[in-house]
Amino acid sequence: MNFETLRVRQEEGVVFADIAAQPMNLLGPELVGDLVSLIQQTEADSALHVLVFASADPDYFISHADVTRLGNNGEQAAKLTGEPSLGILFRRLSTSRLVTIAQIEGRVRGAGSEFVLGCDMRFAARESAMFGQPEQGLGLIPGAGGIQNLTRLMGRARALEVMLSAEDYDAELAERYGWINRALPASTLGAFVRSLAHRIAGFPADARVSLKDRVNAIALASAEDFRRDTELFRECARNPEAQSRIQSAMARGLQTREAEMDLGLMLRQLEEKPTSKLEWKLLTKRRASSTRGVPPGREALAWVTNTVTLIYGQRDAILVDTLLTEQESKELLDWVVESGKHLTTIYITHAHGDHYFGLKHLLDKFPNAKAIATASVVAAIQNQIKPEFLHSFWEPRYPGQLPSQLIAPEVLEGDTFYLEGEELKVVELGHTDTAHATALYVPSIGLVVSGDCVYNNTHLYLAECGEEARNEWLRALDKIESLHPNVVIAGHGVLNPDSSPRHIAETRLYLRDFIASLASTSTAIELYEMMLSLYPHRINPGSLWAAAKASKPPESADRLKETQLA
Ligand SMILES: [Zn+2]
Repeated sequence: MNFETLRVRQEEGVVFADIAAQPMNLLGPELVGDLVSLIQQTEADSALHVLVFASADPDYFISHADVTRLGNNGEQAAKLTGEPSLGILFRRLSTSRLVTIAQIEGRVRGAGSEFVLGCDMRFAARESAMFGQPEQGLGLIPGAGGIQNLTRLMGRARALEVMLSAEDYDAELAERYGWINRALPASTLGAFVRSLAHRIAGFPADARVSLKDRVNAIALASAEDFRRDTELFRECARNPEAQSRIQSAMARGLQTREAEMDLGLMLRQLEEKPTSKLEWKLLTKRRASSTRGVPPGREALAWVTNTVTLIYGQRDAILVDTLLTEQESKELLDWVVESGKHLTTIYITHAHGDHYFGLKHLLDKFPNAKAIATASVVAAIQNQIKPEFLHSFWEPRYPGQLPSQLIAPEVLEGDTFYLEGEELKVVELGHTDTAHATALYVPSIGLVVSGDCVYNNTHLYLAECGEEARNEWLRALDKIESLHPNVVIAGHGVLNPDSSPRHIAETRLYLRDFIASLASTSTAIELYEMMLSLYPHRINPGSLWAAAKASKPPESADRLKETQLA
């Protein structure tokens, strides 16, 4: 006997058939066809008396009927019974002159459970067997004899519990409820069933057939009742609600090994709203530019913003970057508290003080939150919060305004962390407006928080960039663009930013114009004026002035002084 989905061997009057329908023993037309042939061939051989079904897959005995091929299953079943119904096929098994035994390991649900209920006896591995009639979870009813057999076996109340709950039942509970004859340790199950099968096969055949007929006369429902269940199953399956639930279960992995390991859980989740989508909001604060000594004439534009991003789910939130001054840090803290979300993480995109000085305030209020950044960013921040740098650079620019305690974030291991199960990915950008810059990418909502890679209507801070760094910045823009984001947050922008991806291209154009202007001018003031003529409305010309002086330095001392600022 050769089959596509069954491994069959014969020992005297007993036939052992192991179900092996890759990848998860779904009951599809190949398996149904093989079962039909097996029943025909074994019934035709009067030397055979007992048929034992087991599974070649330790996790799945028969997962359930393949919901995409229900019609094809019916066609195969009709080859034996003349009726396109799995229920009638399984009932046919119950009336066979052969004695059938199911030796169950792994999951057996839906039509799989109805198949073992069609067998004469069921023995299951205590450790691994799992039973379920999940139909109600999909808006269906057990249509292949489950209702008829379970109600007779368990009684009305337990049968209703099992079928209405669509829950998974382990072997011990299945035994207590009468779903199976016995739950046995997996180590003894095979030997027990084999011995029982041979014992039965050794007794006279005629008396066995009479006995089975008389038991069926008491306990097996009529073919008419099986047919009625099949009809009602088909009616349910045509209902739009059932169709949409099956679709939604398929989207969650129905008919895949992994997802069906815990089908009970999946059916519960169908009740819930679609996966909680993350949302985000921005806090944008305007402050004075960091650059001093800017040529006169553009005072109205001499300011800059910092933007922080709060990404949040139903309960939790993560913050990307913080603000610079003590006052801003307090306002930021209030804003986060007002959100009502539980802050789990603060991610710092790069090592510029205007992006991390506010950390201490937030961590004091949210002691369970973790501040994180890449190893390079953490190392740079540790250097920058040393007193010498603060005294020489930040304090003269913002006297009496900086938070009194500055701290560095911790190193993030790997490049991914999570918010309510959704991925947040660190994108290493190389040099943008400083070395080792990063962006944060949230694939589930197509959001990129660009750090200081993408600017919005603000002069880029190019004072830390030589030729190679400018090219790195251009490549960083390509990298962000390759993510095809829906939303791109600029670290420095206008007060009510649109966060459009178009700012990637605009930042790229600015960089190319700067590179071209650098080549066609000879002094800092020429470069500054040329870029201003191209970008007369961009905010913070001080940033451009710092870049111009760094790129065309009259004295190297000035250049050093202007580095490390945004
Ligand atoms: Zn910045």
